[in-house]
Amino acid sequence: MPQLSVVVPLYNEAASLAELCQWIRRVCEQNHLSYEIILVDDGSTDESWSVIRQLAQQDAQIRGIRFRRNYGKSAALQEGFRAAGGEVVVTLDADLQDSPDELPVLYRRICQEGWDIISGWKRKRKDPISKTLPSRLFNKVTRWVSGIPLHDFNCGLKAYRSEVVKNIEVYGEMHRYIPVIAKWAGFSRIGEQEVTHYPRRYGSSKFGWSRFINGFLDLLSIHFITRFGRRPMHLFGTLGLMAFFVGFVIALWLGIQKFVFLQYKMTERPIFYVALAAMVIGVQLFVAGFLAELITRHFADRHNYQIAERIRPLEPKG
Ligand code: UDP
Ligand code: MG
Repeated sequence: MPQLSVVVPLYNEAASLAELCQWIRRVCEQNHLSYEIILVDDGSTDESWSVIRQLAQQDAQIRGIRFRRNYGKSAALQEGFRAAGGEVVVTLDADLQDSPDELPVLYRRICQEGWDIISGWKRKRKDPISKTLPSRLFNKVTRWVSGIPLHDFNCGLKAYRSEVVKNIEVYGEMHRYIPVIAKWAGFSRIGEQEVTHYPRRYGSSKFGWSRFINGFLDLLSIHFITRFGRRPMHLFGTLGLMAFFVGFVIALWLGIQKFVFLQYKMTERPIFYVALAAMVIGVQLFVAGFLAELITRHFADRHNYQIAERIRPLEPKG
């Protein structure tokens, strides 16, 4: 078991791979760390894979995974995590924006200080302002929603205790929220480390403006799934009952006015339509909650709880 697994997701980064691997090797050898490098080619259309083949021939620590098509950074990370055999797993962007010089510090902080995750913080960020400004907003919102005090959630450079990456699932575009996912899986010792950041030298950024919209939607999903994923009725049912109750009370009041006090015609009052809509929406929400409950009943991981330790585990009798 190597001490360090370095997982590198990459999409069309042929130009920087050789330098990156060399740099990682130099740092690990100087610091006497045993390591493996897992290069996950996310369906590149340039020469990345042939470069990886060559590199792997020269260096036995290099392992490669190639996707048949482009699935996205999260998928690449998930697959890299699955393959990683090291005690500490570090993820690194392939574009040389993150520095492998940080590896020893990250390794030490996980192993000796006992953190589950150390997330990089690009304090002095070398990116255009069109990226840094929205990113600040993004981080603020995520901090607020998740309650995790990190400055830089989306930093590609992060270190994990092996247990963490084996027990979380990163899909869609959820790589931006790995600390949030990990926290909900019960890994709450999440620390931060300032890291140096370099401008991109080769190739171009793989994420455009859509990252901000997608990122925000993902945050909503993650918030919903982690809080209500196992009990959707509590959300939909509550909202549904509330809406129905409001509508019902208004309708009742209008009914009393009409039939007891013989005032107004019901349908001439705008609020009648509010009552009607509220009751219909209430029932809809309730039904949505009910359907969601039926669906989640069949989730395979319904009873997949994170168990930290056991004392004298019960052996199944056979
Ligand atoms: N990446 C990937 N699959 C994709 C898009 C990106 O594996 O579909 C990799 C990319 O090659 C790089 C890392 O994810 O190693 C971060 O991407 P990029 O540098 O473009 O992001 P930015 O620094 O602009 O946030
Ligand atoms: Mg980059």
